[in-house]
Amino acid sequence: LVGRMREFGTTVFATMTKLAVDTGSINLGQGFPDTDGPARMLEHAIEAIKGGLNQYPPGPGVPELRQAVSDHRKDWYGLSYDPGAEVLVTVGATEAIAAAVLAVCEPGDEVIVFEPFYDSYGAAVALAGAVRRPVTLRVDAGRFTFDPAELAAAVGTRTRAVLVNSPHNPTGTVFTRAELEEIAAVCGEHDLIAITDEVYEHLTFDGVEHIPLATLPGMRERTIMISSAGKSFSVTGWKTGWICAPPSLTRAVQTVKQFLTFTSSAPWQLAVAFALREEMEWVAAQRAALQAKRDRLMAGLRTAGFEVLRPAGTYFVQTDIRPLGFDDGLEFAMRLPELAGVVAIPTQVFYDRRERGRHFVRFAFCKRDEVIDEAVTRLQRLG
Ligand code: PMP
Ligand code: GLN
Repeated sequence: LVGRMREFGTTVFATMTKLAVDTGSINLGQGFPDTDGPARMLEHAIEAIKGGLNQYPPGPGVPELRQAVSDHRKDWYGLSYDPGAEVLVTVGATEAIAAAVLAVCEPGDEVIVFEPFYDSYGAAVALAGAVRRPVTLRVDAGRFTFDPAELAAAVGTRTRAVLVNSPHNPTGTVFTRAELEEIAAVCGEHDLIAITDEVYEHLTFDGVEHIPLATLPGMRERTIMISSAGKSFSVTGWKTGWICAPPSLTRAVQTVKQFLTFTSSAPWQLAVAFALREEMEWVAAQRAALQAKRDRLMAGLRTAGFEVLRPAGTYFVQTDIRPLGFDDGLEFAMRLPELAGVVAIPTQVFYDRRERGRHFVRFAFCKRDEVIDEAVTRLQRLG
């Protein structure tokens, strides 16, 4: 394995899901729902296969999906993207993120990331031969946020891009307009490209709304906006994502995508196009259901003795393990199957400065109520 990839090894999600399977533990680690997405959407995928949509689709994506993505951006955010030149379908958000970073970074360029950051960001930056510059999210008044001065200080002469994830995995923070304005100001001042990972765009709670960075003044022209179907429609196994960006950036990402995967699986694309048009009510119901699951797991974790932070979005809740008498979240997570028959994710693995996330452990609540309840019953044994 080449040197620049050596720090990555096996992803924490693969490791922890294997641990759950091997020990028969309840898996509140890797974030994936344990129920299916909207039935009519699933039928559309079956119909697409039966209907013969089984050969290479066009490289940029099937026209129906590019049009549906464009219409969705318009309806939800008032953003206009030309489906022919400004929308590209990708193999999940993961490919979109990697292709975007590879498309805009020269070796030695720097990319700002907010730590804790989703694990693929570090690897995508390394693949490009670029360097990540972490800005730490810290807990302030019950939510993870950043210090604008720290963000400004992270910019150097080689800074090319900033990777922004909101709603944010693994903290559950949804950036406020004020926070996004700070990021936009830095991008404008230093001529940076923003790569935005918005896969949890529809999974926000308590009336908090997701604001795409591209909707801020001057940002559409410098933003590669990324999302995917996995979270909105509970189909994480479909790996269908997309970018929206100005034509030159879309072309750049497509140039890279051509040689990573050439094109993305055909049948899911038609089904997702259908869902973006017809299943947003299902998404609204799902969002309400997830909020109730969040509250259920938060209450349960509190009775088990954790300090619990309230996420405004995503599938995840952050806990501090110190009230339980533990100190290191990694050690805690590795012992949790044996102690309680539950798997969770040690948040520190998402930090460059691991010390800063030492006490945090992430639990996923995108699970059936009985699964959450059983996990809580087991975790109560820790007290
Ligand atoms: N970004 C974030 C923040 C995620 O949590 C995930 C994982 N689901 C992804 C990207 C990857 O999305 P996809 O499965 O569409 O590649
Ligand atoms: N996004 C999911 C999580 O954070 C997992 C995705 C993956 O397994 N790579 O848990």
